[in-house]
Amino acid sequence: MQSEQRVVQEGANNWVRPVKRIEPKPGQFLYSREARAQDTVVKAGPARIGGAGFAVIAGPCSVESKEQLVETAEKVSQAGAHVLRGGAYKPRTSPYSFQGMEEEGLKLLALAREATGLPVVTELMDADELPLLEDYVDIIQIGARNVQNFSLLKKVGKINKPVLLKRGLMTKLDEFLLSAEYILAGGNDQVILCERGIRTFETATRNTLDLSAVCVLKERSHLPVIVDPSHATGHWRFVEPLARAVLAVGADGLMVEVHCHPEQALCDGSQSLTPEMFSHLMGELNAMPSFRPADQAALKQV
Ligand code: PEP
Ligand code: MN
Repeated sequence: MQSEQRVVQEGANNWVRPVKRIEPKPGQFLYSREARAQDTVVKAGPARIGGAGFAVIAGPCSVESKEQLVETAEKVSQAGAHVLRGGAYKPRTSPYSFQGMEEEGLKLLALAREATGLPVVTELMDADELPLLEDYVDIIQIGARNVQNFSLLKKVGKINKPVLLKRGLMTKLDEFLLSAEYILAGGNDQVILCERGIRTFETATRNTLDLSAVCVLKERSHLPVIVDPSHATGHWRFVEPLARAVLAVGADGLMVEVHCHPEQALCDGSQSLTPEMFSHLMGELNAMPSFRPADQAALKQV
């Protein structure tokens, strides 16, 4: 952060004495378009997220077995996915739910990468596991529940690996961008923002997908923005239509859950696509005229 700061006068009225608060100018935030006009492109193996193109991350919610992961990885790869996802450490609401395969799961992710050539992303829950994840995976995910775990954010700010940061269930976009700032301020400029639905009064879907977040984040930040319609809706039927909307709104990519046998999934089966559904979705996306960030820049000048 540069030293130039603005002084904001606060609280001046009959009851409260004015207070001077020092805060950075908006353009001083490393995430901002003022700090960097061009889109950041995050690189993970052969995959590129941000800038031109549309990156698709697919795979099971959790790594469950070698057969499950490798079969899913091969199928999503054949259908055109760019990155394989799979949780080895799972943030579960109940302590009695499946918690993930931990290091064994990381080894299977590395095996699936070898089998398919796809870079892999998995979630980091505890800083103690960071050295292991750095060894085994290409992108480190910070999940919705840890978006404001500032000490974890500081730690991934110090590593030399891309970080996929998911928006929290109750995170305002200002707060989300400041969480990204923690990582950037540590020196790690490879950050991907992921909208995954927020908690609202609506209960028909698991969360409420905030597609307008894509427009706001892309206007305010050079960081790539992707969307996860699986966790946003909780229902496989809604994933494909919303994935089309994600491409149309100008996001840089998509994250979707895919399982070969969703009815047997240990986690999030109801929102998982089968490989056949995923392949259909990829066909639909490929048939759509893409609406790239370059077009958005042109629109802004109108
Ligand atoms: C996930 O992507 O596996 C996950 C748990 O998502 P979120 O943190 O968005 O709930
Ligand atoms: Mn999941």
